[in-house]
Amino acid sequence: MNNFLSIQPAIFCEPCKDCGARPVVEQSKNGYVVRCPNDKKHYKTKAGLVDITDWNLKNKAHMPFVASPKQKAS
Ligand SMILES: [Zn+2]
Repeated sequence: MNNFLSIQPAIFCEPCKDCGARPVVEQSKNGYVVRCPNDKKHYKTKAGLVDITDWNLKNKAHMPFVASPKQKAS
C-alpha cells in the first residue's frame, strides 16, 4: 500500500524527468523519500529528510554541471 503525501503547491518541484509527474513524498520506515508517484523505478531521493533540492537537481532537464552533452538520452 502506498503512503504518499502531496507536496505543498507553493514549493517548487521539477516534474519527473521520465514522465513529467509532480513528485510526492513517500513515508518509508527509514524516513521520507521524494519520488515519482507513477513508477518506483523513476528517480527517488534517499530515505531521510524530505530532500526536494536533490530531486530538483536530478530531474532538471539541463544539468548545469554536466559539461559534455554526449549523455543526452533523447
Ligand atoms: Zn516518473
